[in-house]
Amino acid sequence: MIKNKLVFNDSPDWAFDLKKAKGSIIWTKDGRELIDFTSAWNVVNLGWNNEEIAEAMAKQIQENVQGILWSSDDIQVKYADALTKVLPKSLNTVVRATGGTEANEEALKTARAFIGRKKFISFRDTYHGQSFGTMAIGYRPEFVTAIEPLVPGFTQIDFPQTYRTDKSPKQVLKDFAAELESLLAKKDIAAVVTEAGIITGWGSTYVAPKGYLKLVRELTQKYGTLIILDEVGTGFSRCGKMFGMEIENVVPDIVTFAKGLSNGAVAIGAMITKKEIIEATIGQTNLTSTFGWVPVGCAAGLKVLEIHQRDKIWEKAQKDGKYVMNFLQQKALPHPKVGDIRGLGMEIGLDIVKDKSSKEVDPEAAKKLVSEAYKNGLHIVLGDGGNIQLMPPLTIEKGRLDAGLDILISCLQTI
Ligand code: PMP
Repeated sequence: MIKNKLVFNDSPDWAFDLKKAKGSIIWTKDGRELIDFTSAWNVVNLGWNNEEIAEAMAKQIQENVQGILWSSDDIQVKYADALTKVLPKSLNTVVRATGGTEANEEALKTARAFIGRKKFISFRDTYHGQSFGTMAIGYRPEFVTAIEPLVPGFTQIDFPQTYRTDKSPKQVLKDFAAELESLLAKKDIAAVVTEAGIITGWGSTYVAPKGYLKLVRELTQKYGTLIILDEVGTGFSRCGKMFGMEIENVVPDIVTFAKGLSNGAVAIGAMITKKEIIEATIGQTNLTSTFGWVPVGCAAGLKVLEIHQRDKIWEKAQKDGKYVMNFLQQKALPHPKVGDIRGLGMEIGLDIVKDKSSKEVDPEAAKKLVSEAYKNGLHIVLGDGGNIQLMPPLTIEKGRLDAGLDILISCLQTI
């Protein structure tokens, strides 16, 4: 749809023009004040328009704003050092990118070139970007028919979620392991592309049973397949750890970041992998990005990293996440249209259903809830069909968090 000469994939009737935003509050052009439970979809984890980040960027603007493809600005080197220092040792080499789509695209190319196999395994109903390659990882069917063929070679399987199934979590994981192993055993898969045990990109907030990523690591290792871990949503404290890979202490072969990396201050992304993988492939993959890691983005990234580490933001995310889960389990789950509450850290899904027994999604009721919340001062967003994925800024003050939750509960009474 087109509004004010701008193109939107989707824009609800109530969508507002943003005038100003600070911390966990958004002010709209028509004079409303909203508590934000979206973080622009896992972007402004450290709050909207964080002043420390703005200061670091302003300083860099005085120095230099554009990098060079065949060379590096000092701040790019400094940032690559800092970022790899907080990751597992083997993830020591950075490829510059402008966002999540580009970082994932770089990852796919690198995996094919390194392993010498063409195929990938990924999951249905996931989002990893809007290019032909990243849409092949996961997509909505309505966005594919007119533009196909996508990049070939992807086998999408079901994510091992535990809500829309009658199986126990143990059985879900067991069946998933059998399916994955039967595909990997053919030894023609370059990589499995996944998030860290949760689907954030699609907005279903489906969570895998404990042990999921460990299992994927064991099986991929057994059959010489790589793991591409998309941490565009899970990274930067969102899920209660600095990075999603820390939840089960699994080290992927390739990891991708964007969004929270600059806290939304600049378009920036990263594909990080092992030195030997890049050394073996760089002549064959073309990973150039004119605007990847512009120095101002690196200044923002360095400050973001410093704040996460200094304030242990993931600890607050874990604590607040538990608090929100508890609250919603007591106050929201008894509602006849709330089918499930699930999530990791401060990535929490509220599943709106027609009735609890069928678990059939109720998109209309979910849309109404989002629109009622907006009218009452809370900004939430509809993810997959009937799921509302709550993603408040991780720095949100307790009083604001409570006020937002209270609005949510009172608006539930309207659906
Ligand atoms: N991966 C995930 C998990 C995402 O949520 C997104 C964006 N929604 C992307 C990749 C793509 O990132 P970008 O929009 O920066 O290209």
